[in-house]
Amino acid sequence: MKCFKQTKKQLEKIETNEIKDDIKQVLGQKCYFCQKPLTKKGIVVHHLSYDDKKYSDFKTQLEYHKYLLKQVKSNKSNLVMAHSKCHRENLN
Ligand SMILES: [Zn+2]
Repeated sequence: MKCFKQTKKQLEKIETNEIKDDIKQVLGQKCYFCQKPLTKKGIVVHHLSYDDKKYSDFKTQLEYHKYLLKQVKSNKSNLVMAHSKCHRENLN
């Protein structure tokens, strides 16, 4: 019998993407930097000011995004979505 069970890491990635979709619903579908529509992949949540916890405060990407979703719902003016490419270019 073949095993199609996904690894924990894959499942985490899927759940993280679902959370990102939820965040997109709240924050809008455009990139903060270039104003073009957001793509399905390669997007990040960008903090306008950093009084929040950071990615490095969490063990996994999933935990971090669960936290972000909560933040987005309670404090959405501090958070925007961006293409990860635009994010990199604008922060360097
Ligand atoms: Zn962009």
